[in-house]
Amino acid sequence: MTLEEATKRVNQLKTDLIKWTRQYYVLDQPTVEDHVYDEHYLQLVELEKVFPNLVTPNSPTQRVGGQVLPGFEKVSHEVPMLSLGDVFSIEELSEFDQRLQKSVDAEVSYNAELKIDGLAISLTYENGVFVKGSTRGDGTIGEDITENLKTVKSIPLTLTEPISIEVRGECYMPTKAFVALNKRREEAGETVFANPRNAAAGSLRQLNTAETAQRQLSTFIYYIVDPNALDVKTQSDALKRLAELGFRTNTESRVTSDMTEISAYINEYQAKRHDLSYDIDGIVIKANLFTIHDEVGNTVKVPKWAIAYKFPPDEQETKVLDIEWTIGRTGVVTPTAIMNPVQLAGTTVSRASLHNGDLLKQKDIRINDMVKLHKAGDIIPEISEVVLDKRPDDSVVYILPTNCPVCGALLVHLDEEVALRCINPKCPALIKESLAHFASRNAMNIDGLGPKIVEQLFENKLISDVAGLYQLTADQLLTLDNFKEKSVNKLLNAIDISRQNSVERLLFGLGIRHVGAKAARLVSAEFKDIHQLMTATAEDILVIDSIGQVIADSLVTYFANDQVRELIDELDNAQVNLTFLGKTTAEIAELAEGSPVMDKKVVLTGTLDQLKRSDAKKWLEANGASVVGSVSKKTDLLIAGHDAGSKLIKAEQLEIEIWDEQQFISVMEGVSYEKN
Ligand code: NAD
Repeated sequence: MTLEEATKRVNQLKTDLIKWTRQYYVLDQPTVEDHVYDEHYLQLVELEKVFPNLVTPNSPTQRVGGQVLPGFEKVSHEVPMLSLGDVFSIEELSEFDQRLQKSVDAEVSYNAELKIDGLAISLTYENGVFVKGSTRGDGTIGEDITENLKTVKSIPLTLTEPISIEVRGECYMPTKAFVALNKRREEAGETVFANPRNAAAGSLRQLNTAETAQRQLSTFIYYIVDPNALDVKTQSDALKRLAELGFRTNTESRVTSDMTEISAYINEYQAKRHDLSYDIDGIVIKANLFTIHDEVGNTVKVPKWAIAYKFPPDEQETKVLDIEWTIGRTGVVTPTAIMNPVQLAGTTVSRASLHNGDLLKQKDIRINDMVKLHKAGDIIPEISEVVLDKRPDDSVVYILPTNCPVCGALLVHLDEEVALRCINPKCPALIKESLAHFASRNAMNIDGLGPKIVEQLFENKLISDVAGLYQLTADQLLTLDNFKEKSVNKLLNAIDISRQNSVERLLFGLGIRHVGAKAARLVSAEFKDIHQLMTATAEDILVIDSIGQVIADSLVTYFANDQVRELIDELDNAQVNLTFLGKTTAEIAELAEGSPVMDKKVVLTGTLDQLKRSDAKKWLEANGASVVGSVSKKTDLLIAGHDAGSKLIKAEQLEIEIWDEQQFISVMEGVSYEKN
């Protein structure tokens, strides 16, 4: 390559990498996959090695990735927060090992750790009290995000010992929270996050801490700035001490000096990564002895005593057969790519949401295109890009629909939303979706009223809105397919029981924009009666902790609508309970603090000796858990009595937390709430 060619290529690489870095770190909206970034970055490193005169201070190879955003105070890191050098093969990893062994003239033992795909944070404690938290920023200057970090439950506000230390670690969004957040954002017509890492970064940079608090972030702490403060000599001991002090540390790490063992560790976690509740993008090996860290030191960008092995991208090529548009309960119309089925991260995938028309246009996905498919957060199938080389000659740009695929009404963009919406209140798809949501388990919990029955009720014109459910008669229901007296009575009974629900279920069931089950519970506990909420101003609602402006405004707008007021009257006339029957806001807050099972999905299995199964269930529910029947990835906790069978085995495989009956009783007795 001539100098002229190299200069051109280096400039192009720099321009692309600088643009991508900004999209990734500043906007939290990457437009290329990490491995694409990594490949370009490596090319630049190689070219700069051959043509050292082309290295400029603004080259991405000279800087630790992040940037400092306006809106947060700056924090300077006395000890810089570095990135990590990375390798992509076992051979390169062994070369790193050999280099290090030589430079320290002794056998090096490593602490191999999971590389958590979140963002680096630094936490400072004075006399055991959390005083400052910051992002890495450009490595020397970060952003002060103390208040946001205080909302992250795994960060201790006080340590178990009154010491002054600075620790570092990773703040991340658990996969489950990421999936739920993107679903909510898609339904609300907002842009979705590309992966949990960007979602975590976006969540920590919220100027409104209430918003951060809702994002369910978590942390793993893996670094002590001054090991002398903890009187430890190795990374593995430091992790133990950090855990004793109250930090959440990752327990999957392993100490070894054997490269074959490290290679086995990599293979093990490459296979297991899809089963973890958080995203990892590789393995980090760190010389275990801190004296080695001091001896070999750091480059301006990375430590010389550690290296990251990055997993290869899990990606498949497949063909787009069709683009399907579906309409959700909020009226958002979402495109889904239908593709030739392929195996990806353990499942067969043939559909991928394209989230919104803008994204579809931006990626220029067309029918019959070959596309690259991966799983965001290891869970959600996502098209990364079109394989342009394989695009058929006769391919045409996909034209977005202008009308609702169901009712034909003109689709609109509300406010600045990226989503297309059907705003026809009489659109059958919208009404059906909202009825199914109204009846769903976390809403009015009407057993037996699934989407198929809703569809029939609607098609037979037996109901047109949720209030209509309470007017249904046995004769009407007998006209439905496969409905006999027994099923009719069962459904009528379930509808009748739902009249007695505490009002937060109704409030959630109404499907008000931005109002999830948790917000509905907090608002109901505060206002006690829906009529009081209907006359509240946004300021009145904002007195509730963890309710932000968006939710408050949405509630006020919703209840200002005359049709909504009529609907509430109809529900009132149908004797649907409109008052709050549960615990007060203060009690809920106390419960959330004190309850180890708050918001957890719990499965009971096996025989319990000291408790009746039904009492255990009531006890759990009274403390904020939801008790479910079967074990899945979504389960948080399994309580196993003796002779537990397949559920226990499955929970063990999925690495779900497991308690026996005695442990359950001991933990729950520590909670201030009574059994029933
Ligand atoms: P990195 O993510 O490759 O590795 C360093 C980071 O790993 C540390 O700062 C720390 O936050 C984290 N980490 C996780 N677990 C750790 C552990 N156990 N011990 C120590 N550190 C641990 O480097 P980076 O500088 O944060 O980011 C660069 C990477 O970001 C690139 O390799 C690329 O994949 C990605 N990137 C992507 C784009 C894009 O457009 N897609 C743009 C810029 C950067």
